[in-house]
Amino acid sequence: MRCAKLNPYLDVDKKIVSEVYTSSEPMDNLKVLCDIHGSRWPGTPGDLASVKWMVEKLKSYGIENARYEAFTFPGWRRGPAELEMVAPFERSLECISLPQTMPDEVEGKLVFLGDGPVGIYEERKEDIEGNIVMVTSRTPLGMTRSLHRSEKFMRSVLAGAKGWIFMNHYKASGPPTGTVAPVIPAIGVSWEAGSFLKRRLEEGEVRVRIKTTDENIDVETYNVVCDIPGTSGEDVHVLTGSHYDGHDISQGALDPASGAVTVMEMARVLNKVKDKIKRNVRFVCFGAEEIGLYGSYNYVMMHRDEMKDMRFMLNLDSAGGPGRKGVIFNGHSELEPYVSEMAREMKAELPTGQRTSPYGDNWPFFVNGIPGGGGGDPEAERTRTGRGYGHTRYDTVDKIELEDLRRAAANFARFIFRVANEEDWPARHKTEEEVQAFTEEKGYGETVHLADRVKDYVSKWEKLHPDTEDWIEKRPTGGMSSAYVPSSE
Ligand SMILES: [Zn+2]
Repeated sequence: MRCAKLNPYLDVDKKIVSEVYTSSEPMDNLKVLCDIHGSRWPGTPGDLASVKWMVEKLKSYGIENARYEAFTFPGWRRGPAELEMVAPFERSLECISLPQTMPDEVEGKLVFLGDGPVGIYEERKEDIEGNIVMVTSRTPLGMTRSLHRSEKFMRSVLAGAKGWIFMNHYKASGPPTGTVAPVIPAIGVSWEAGSFLKRRLEEGEVRVRIKTTDENIDVETYNVVCDIPGTSGEDVHVLTGSHYDGHDISQGALDPASGAVTVMEMARVLNKVKDKIKRNVRFVCFGAEEIGLYGSYNYVMMHRDEMKDMRFMLNLDSAGGPGRKGVIFNGHSELEPYVSEMAREMKAELPTGQRTSPYGDNWPFFVNGIPGGGGGDPEAERTRTGRGYGHTRYDTVDKIELEDLRRAAANFARFIFRVANEEDWPARHKTEEEVQAFTEEKGYGETVHLADRVKDYVSKWEKLHPDTEDWIEKRPTGGMSSAYVPSSE
């Protein structure tokens, strides 16, 4: 049996853990973020109000440099949407627009593609051409990566779809939301509304009409940033963050606020051991993640000269939900033994895994070569088929447990402390080739080029919606902005 090293940071650990477990701060903060400020969707009054409140809160913890950084990005404002079955008989069904949808109206034959596996769009191209596709929110069986809504959407567009319906695969959870692109009108429907349409489809041809009334507009939003300076005076820093914006239809309590309050709690408790922290720790609450990673993307651009000195980026989106609190690295196997040793020393459970995807705030850092990972349970990542109540109106404060927030804050604060204090940090920045190779290995090699293919494809259409033109010309990053962070300005 291996003999674990003594814990060199036992005093710091005791301080962190006792602070976390004798306070209800993250739950108190979650209630303010969600109950007072609402969804924090970019451009809503609760967006700026929540940002100002977070800055004041961080200052009240003694972190005087807390501030927010503003940026403008292509935002979106929801309008009412309609879904009408027009044949075999007329029936109105509840639906909601998906973010970035443009105002439009289409009618066509309904084509149901089940869970929408990767190959089905080409296979069913003849049916899809000129018609309206419906797919579920579930990851198709047998996939080793999750198949994201935007990939199903892009592949439907490339197969000729003129409208798009995203059906929740969870019962009694209402319609799901999630960003697409202003190319064809796209809506979300509940399991029940989708199942109704499926039953009609089993009887013969079904025609549906979609009407959307949304607005694509430029919006100012923010990143909240603060630092605990390291005692060594080096430029090296460690970053941890979570987005704070939720989807406009919900409180966004799990996704993302449970993560944002975890980051704030880490800032609070780490500031109490600041004289023991060797290298700078930066805490960021990113804005505008849900509509295309705009907060993290802008952060990387605004802090480009600091990227070379970033030791690690820990993304804690939704980190305060249920489940084990480990770290899923973006392709850094050299960190696995290091973290197992760390977990033994901490007497804490810190499971690890390796993954990347273009759908989280890690991505803009990952494509710039920065070692990073996301907080979570690598086992759960492998077995889950979707978001549950995430991205629905039911993502509310009552789903979150203080105990989970505490576990997240305690584990990740101790982890970040060690990363900042390590003299012999084993992870180095990846080259562009290594980034590409790991993206391929995880099955996203083709995925990251889908938005470019969609732009090429729709550019050949005879008539373009002004919002689509705008998306192609002025908003080159679109719904898959994640994939297009340039490696230099
Ligand atoms: Zn999120």
